[in-house]
Amino acid sequence: MADKRDYYEVLGVAKGASDDEIKKAHRKLAKKYHPDLNKDNPNAEEKFKEVNEAYEVLSDKDKRAKYDQFGFAGVDPNYGAGQGGGFGGGFGGFDMGDLGDIFGSFFGGGFGSSSRSRRNAPQRGQTIQKRVMLSFEEAAFGCEKEITIDRVEDCDECGGSGAARGTSAETCTNCRGSGTVTQTQRTPLGMFQTQTACPNCRGTGKIIKKPCSKCGGSGKVQKSRTLKVNIPAGIDDGQAIQLRGQGGAGANGGPAGDVIVTISIRPHPLFTREGSDVICEMPVSFVQAALGDTLQVPTIDGKVEYNMPEGTQPGAVFRLRGKGIQNVNGRGRGDQYVRIILEVPKNLTAHQKELLREFESSTTDENQQQRKGFWDKVKDAFKGD
Ligand SMILES: [Zn+2]
Ligand SMILES: [Zn+2]
Repeated sequence: MADKRDYYEVLGVAKGASDDEIKKAHRKLAKKYHPDLNKDNPNAEEKFKEVNEAYEVLSDKDKRAKYDQFGFAGVDPNYGAGQGGGFGGGFGGFDMGDLGDIFGSFFGGGFGSSSRSRRNAPQRGQTIQKRVMLSFEEAAFGCEKEITIDRVEDCDECGGSGAARGTSAETCTNCRGSGTVTQTQRTPLGMFQTQTACPNCRGTGKIIKKPCSKCGGSGKVQKSRTLKVNIPAGIDDGQAIQLRGQGGAGANGGPAGDVIVTISIRPHPLFTREGSDVICEMPVSFVQAALGDTLQVPTIDGKVEYNMPEGTQPGAVFRLRGKGIQNVNGRGRGDQYVRIILEVPKNLTAHQKELLREFESSTTDENQQQRKGFWDKVKDAFKGD
């Protein structure tokens, strides 16, 4: 369906037309497009409906005021959401009761950004981005943080109206509160209508005679606020928390924006993280690895004992079940993985060297199976030489 035509345009009357003018225009056009009189004009029925719909709204004082202020969205809850319904079909019975909710659901849907957007249409408040730095443990176990933001709020002196105490903003008489004026230009190519912001009220639809002294008539003030943020256990680097409605105040009855808190996690000297698993590298001596040992392994809960078996090889990884991080979305914890790093001793004394040489001379192929296997393969590969 093509864009709906402005109701005043449909009836061919000016924005400020009197009730009488509207009635007359309707009567004339309804006659012109009446389906009974236009049996061979297939467009007439559409036109007839369009004319009736326009009249339905403009002849009703309440609906006309809403239309003047909010456009089609003010009189048709379906407008902008999923156009197609509500037009052409039966009209009448528009429910204006929950206009607030309707506007609430429009935003995010892109209504505000359409070509019909006006300066006095409801606008969602500003979304504020904030980054919070956490320690590894704070992210693992959750915490409460305070953030300070600067946001636009409704002025508490005038309640957001912009008018000085004891006075109120008046509807602009030039545009009847719509914030736009339609200009018709006669050109050699025909009549052109353009909608521009009303110069009288600068598109706001309102005239403030005596501006509020605190906000200067804008109805908005900048405030610094400290907010508490509950950080859930298990949150990961780069994830974000949305504080709904804590951002900037909306304009013209639009909803407030959100605060988006993005998490950064400082690196830990011992642990790294993969999802809800914790990874830790642990150096042991080759003697510990050869003989086995009871290791004191650091975890986010403190030290736990792990019996490393004898003959543990470098790079071996063992798992401590449930010693990882709480799953941020639900129950259960990840695991901790411990990777064994084999440290070869350095700076040996003469005596230590002597002991090791003695040890080496005592080893057999049984002790060093990898080394034996390697030389067997070498022998096979160079058989011919
Ligand atoms: Zn105006
Ligand atoms: Zn104020």
